[in-house]
Amino acid sequence: MTEPELPVPRLIERKRDGGELTESEWRSLIARYVAGGVPDYQMSAVVMAIVFRGLTGAELVSLTGAMLDSGDRFRLEDLSQPRVDKHSIGGVGDKTSLLLAPMLASLGVAVPMISGRGLGHTGGTLDKLESIPGFSTQLSLAAARRQLERLGCVMVGQTPELVPADRKLYALRDVTGTVESIPLISASIMSKKLAESLTGLVLDIKTGSGAFIRDPAQSLVLAETMIALGEARGCRTVGLLTAMDRPLGVACGNALEVIESIEGLEGNGPTDLMEVTYALGAEMLMVSGLESSRDEARRRVEAAVRSGAALARFREMVEAQGGDPRIVDDRGRLPAAPVVATVLADSAGIVAEVAPRPIGHAIVALGGGRSKTDDPIDPAVGFRVFVKPGDRVVRGAPLAEIHARSRDQIAAATAAVREAVRMGEAASPLPLLSHRVTRDGVEVVGG
Ligand code: URA
Repeated sequence: MTEPELPVPRLIERKRDGGELTESEWRSLIARYVAGGVPDYQMSAVVMAIVFRGLTGAELVSLTGAMLDSGDRFRLEDLSQPRVDKHSIGGVGDKTSLLLAPMLASLGVAVPMISGRGLGHTGGTLDKLESIPGFSTQLSLAAARRQLERLGCVMVGQTPELVPADRKLYALRDVTGTVESIPLISASIMSKKLAESLTGLVLDIKTGSGAFIRDPAQSLVLAETMIALGEARGCRTVGLLTAMDRPLGVACGNALEVIESIEGLEGNGPTDLMEVTYALGAEMLMVSGLESSRDEARRRVEAAVRSGAALARFREMVEAQGGDPRIVDDRGRLPAAPVVATVLADSAGIVAEVAPRPIGHAIVALGGGRSKTDDPIDPAVGFRVFVKPGDRVVRGAPLAEIHARSRDQIAAATAAVREAVRMGEAASPLPLLSHRVTRDGVEVVGG
């Protein structure tokens, strides 16, 4: 017997007051929201109540299931290869997806990567890819499948038919201050990932001041929460905790990050970017079941870069998705900002901090991200941040380069760099890679 449907305000009140909604209430709420029967203002109140009150384990399973079932699946169970994806919780300068999809595809793993757009201060894989002239991230599931069969990787956005609940909720949360919530992030990411019919998933759990969940202890809870959701549905899920108390790599901003990704695929990326990429890649190869030794997995992903196979696959993927493959050899074909200015250190000392948030917010202010869901993106703007915590710099050393649309933007962008880069006596950054989390527990990996 189905329960009578309660008016949405009663559900909001119950959640607000710390109560629980039943599975059928979550299902009905999400179904009605997707169908347009629950307005955004009511759903905003629901998600804000979740931010403050959390969800029980049963509610999280119900919400994730309701979101997953709100649309179609990317049905791939009949493919002969293992199907593995990587998902990052979001950060500044985090471009590992662009390297990993072609890298793992060149090793025989099918990577059906369904990515998101920039959210809050963080960049989004789709926005980065769309800075490539012609590149389409809006493929139908049938076209995405054909490309996956042919190339082993495809990088697309959520189609209207795939997890429409998250599509609406993600956009709503972005503009209502409701991103930073372990259950909401877990349900959002895992509903999308489980819709890809994956056999394995590697989560890059960002932690530190620039992450949505800043406290490393809470980041571990986030990892465990998502891993439990994945494993419960038969998807081998592993998480790595990686530092987001400074941007990853040097480039921050869409086209700039594509350039740095190509450099990475050539084996010339910044050390921190390559380290995180290889560590995630090795985990992807292991959850795929194609490799059981971590050392060997690491050797194989590095070899995919050294041999040029990963870069070749990236070029093929760009071309297959309508992009101009010549950008790989001629980066001048990518959008470039007309104004470039360098910010210099105004004193000598040790870089104590390079805070990602001021940089991320400044990219949005430059036009490289969104303040409203339908804001257009300027793909060319952004920063190249040259310093890392612990670096010793002399007065006048370049701290960062600003890529702007106009001179008027330089003063505010310079102020953002000065806010982000704090000089001091010493630095205590988080380890680049600190923990590996699996269904069996947490392992400290250090470094
Ligand atoms: N990325 C997602 O896909 N969802 C979130 O809620 C946060 C980051």
